[in-house]
Amino acid sequence: AAKAKGKNRVQMYDPSLLQDDGRLQFEAELAAAAGAGELVLHYQPIVSVREDWCVAVESLVRWQHPTRGLLQPSEFIPTAERTGAIVAIGAQVLRRACSDAVSWSGPSGPLAVHVNVSAAQLIDQDFVATVRSCVTDFAMPPDRLVLEITESMVLDSPAIRTALAALAALGVTIAIDDFGTGYSALSTLRTLPLDIVKIDKSFLSTGPSRAADQAVVEAIVQMAGRLKLKVVAEGVERIEQLQFLRSAGADATQGYLHLCPTPAPEFGSWLEQTNAT
Ligand code: C2E
Ligand code: CA
Ligand code: CA
Ligand code: CA
Repeated sequence: AAKAKGKNRVQMYDPSLLQDDGRLQFEAELAAAAGAGELVLHYQPIVSVREDWCVAVESLVRWQHPTRGLLQPSEFIPTAERTGAIVAIGAQVLRRACSDAVSWSGPSGPLAVHVNVSAAQLIDQDFVATVRSCVTDFAMPPDRLVLEITESMVLDSPAIRTALAALAALGVTIAIDDFGTGYSALSTLRTLPLDIVKIDKSFLSTGPSRAADQAVVEAIVQMAGRLKLKVVAEGVERIEQLQFLRSAGADATQGYLHLCPTPAPEFGSWLEQTNAT
C-alpha cells in the first residue's frame, strides 16, 4: 500500500462514516441509481505503443448523485459490491459501454471497449446471458468486448473459473487488471482463458523503488509474451514512463499522458483528432 500513489483528490464522501440511517439511505439510493439514470460513464483511451493509435477504450463509471455531486467509483463501488447493487449497475454499464463504443472506430474496425467487472457480477447466474445479449443487440464483434477482472478474484474460485470459461466460449476478450498487486502465481495465468494483462500503475513509480519496479515490469512483459498475452500498462503520466514501456516491450499504454477519463462526446472528438493524425 505504501507504493499506491494517492490520488490528489480529497475523499469527498466516505459511506462508512455514515450513521445507520444515512447508510441505509445511501444503499437505497445506490440500489435505485441505475434505474434513475444517474450513472455516467467516462472513457479513457488505450494507445498502441508501436503505432501511437488509440486501439481501445476503458469505461469508468461515476454516479451523478442528486445532492452529493459526481461520485467516484471508490465512493460507491465497494458498497455496491457488498449490497449486490453492482449486478444492476454493472449490467447497465456493460450495455452503455457497448452502445457508445460501436460508434467509435480504431485503425482496424470498431474500437475495443474494456469494461470492469466485479466478482459478484461474474458469479451471477444471468451474467453470461447479459454479455451475450450486449454483443448481439449492438452487433459488437465479441472479441472487441474486453472484460477486466482483477487478480484477486480468480484465486481459488471454481465459480469464477466456470464463468470465465463460458465467457471465453462466447469469444469475448478477458483482461486481468491491476496485475502484480495480488499474489497469483504465474501458473494461475496459464490455466485461465486470459488475453490481456494490465500492469498496475503502482509499478510506474518515479521514486526510489524505480529500478526494482522497472525490473518487475520487464519480467511481466517477458512472461506475458511467452504466454501469448498482450500487455497494457496503466497510469502513464509522463513521457519517460512511455519511453520505458516502449523499450520494455509493452503493447499499449493508458493514462493521463494520453487523456484523463472524459464523457463520451469529448472522448469521441479526441479520438477523431488522434487517429486522424
Ligand atoms: P481501474 O480499473 O484500475 O481503473 C483505472 C483507474 O486509474 C481509474 O480510476 C482512472 O481514472 C485512474 N487513472 C487513469 N489514468 C491514470 C493516471 O495516469 N494516473 C493515475 N494515478 N490514475 C489514473 P477511477 O475511474 O476512479 O476508477 C477506480 C476503480 O473503480 C477502477 O480501477 C475499477 O477498479 C473501479 N471501477 C470503475 N468503473 C467500474 C465499473 O463500471 N464496474 C466496476 N465493477 N468497477 C469499476
Ligand atoms: Ca480497469
Ligand atoms: Ca487497473
Ligand atoms: Ca485499480
